[in-house]
Amino acid sequence: MSDAIETIADPTTEPFWRACAERRLVVQRCGDCGHHQFYPRPFCLACQSLGVEWVESRGEGTIYSLTTVRIPVTPELPPPYQVAIVELAEGPRLLTNIEGEGAAIGGAVRLGWRERDGLPPLPVFTPA
Ligand code: ZN
Repeated sequence: MSDAIETIADPTTEPFWRACAERRLVVQRCGDCGHHQFYPRPFCLACQSLGVEWVESRGEGTIYSLTTVRIPVTPELPPPYQVAIVELAEGPRLLTNIEGEGAAIGGAVRLGWRERDGLPPLPVFTPA
């Protein structure tokens, strides 16, 4: 798995992928102003501090935006499937998939994991 992480990560994203390998969703938190952010960056978007640290998300959020893909895009993802922007309880939004029935914009979701051959699992969400 560590070789797989080296092929997909860079120094900024490597801690995220290592946490995914342990089925932990992490986001960055600024040690100076407390701002949470995702995707990973080398500095805080709110105050430009370099003192960003990694914290584990509670894995709870709400669906900010949602669509169903009905056209094949990649062989690994046969349609139909749901693509969403989920707003985490900590504040950051991430692009992800919704698995399961009953998803709606504004609906509560909970973190799950999609296993992948030879790669860290991907964080996905299910309606809570
Ligand atoms: Zn900050």
